[in-house]
Amino acid sequence: MLAFSNAMRQLDGAAAHLGLDLGEVAKLKEPDRIYEFDIPVAMDDGSQKSFKGYRVQFNNARGPYKGGIRFHPQVDLDEVKALAFWMAIKTAVVNIPMGGGKGGVSVNPKELSQSELERLARGWVQNMAQHIGPHQDVPAPDVNTNPKIMDWMADEYGKISGDKTAAAFTGKSLEYGGSEGRGTATGQGGFYVLEELAASLGMQSAGRRVVIQGFGNVGYHFAQLVQRAGYVIAGVSDSKGGVYDANGLDLEAVMKAKQEKGSVIDYAAGTKVTNQEMLEQECDILVPAALENQITAENAGAVRAKIVLELANGPTTPEADGILWSKKIYVAPDVLTNAGGVTVSYFEWGQNLAREHWSEREVLAKLELVMKNAFNAVWDTHKKHGVELRTAAFMVAVRRIVDAME
Ligand code: GLU
Repeated sequence: MLAFSNAMRQLDGAAAHLGLDLGEVAKLKEPDRIYEFDIPVAMDDGSQKSFKGYRVQFNNARGPYKGGIRFHPQVDLDEVKALAFWMAIKTAVVNIPMGGGKGGVSVNPKELSQSELERLARGWVQNMAQHIGPHQDVPAPDVNTNPKIMDWMADEYGKISGDKTAAAFTGKSLEYGGSEGRGTATGQGGFYVLEELAASLGMQSAGRRVVIQGFGNVGYHFAQLVQRAGYVIAGVSDSKGGVYDANGLDLEAVMKAKQEKGSVIDYAAGTKVTNQEMLEQECDILVPAALENQITAENAGAVRAKIVLELANGPTTPEADGILWSKKIYVAPDVLTNAGGVTVSYFEWGQNLAREHWSEREVLAKLELVMKNAFNAVWDTHKKHGVELRTAAFMVAVRRIVDAME
């Protein structure tokens, strides 16, 4: 299943409702620029390995290209293009003055030492330094990349370009100009969306069961937040499998098992299920927080949740969207739900350029406002046009992008 063709089908659906002409739609489907390059890395054992690197600059009608860099064996041009396009939609949904881009390296970073990883990160920047920058293209973390990697990249960019603002990369550590609240921002933003959606649907939060596929930075922080708010975390999984307990899991014990033994399946209690079976467990809120194409025509009929809250990018295929909607399951779409990360990235970029450092309270208050405004715009469009939330979000975003392009 190709992510980019799924993304284009999502766009077609929204464009039809907006009455866009074919020329306008064609312009939205074409990335501005694609960079593909080899990154040679000196390995610790003295050998050399080459990794394929990418950056797709999709659309900058609303501001500099913005979006993460993913390190994953599954990374290829199709995936990076889809992710870059979704970034353009995402920044428009939350109405921040940024465009959309994405990068990646086809690599399994778990097989690299820290120094090999550093050389790979710096190598990516050496290839892209002429084409990125605070007012041109601003990368950030994504799957398997983190503040430390952003620090290396920002440092390398500074050395090559002479730029002293640190604003060419976001998601940096606090020490190197990162923002308060950036590490937890995606989960936090998703939580605001969940609370708004639950209220709009007249759903109480206390005691609601949540199942999360993916226990990385995003999934884990989100789990902590919703548990504190009174939801029950009934299941979590990672690529090796998952654990489910309708009465709730001990989150810290699950995290400890993952850190010590490599996977949540080593948690002592609960029922063991596969990563795929996790999506079919009984719950109120199902949260895909891993990779694309997880909920498909094959398993959408088996989803037993009232809300699917997409913290991953592209976890639900267009066919699955149709099945879920026919079952009256609300999908809170990725381009809205996981936009808290890029929103605080935008705050970080602004703080770097203004030489400011905001308190966590300030960051969270601003994030909450951005997420609630975005939710309301999407919800109003859903109500007014009778479309599901993804189409509504795309309608809001595409209108803004087309206006900017004109
Ligand atoms: N990788 C994150 C995303 O998919 C964040 C991007 C950013 O902060 O620029 O939204």
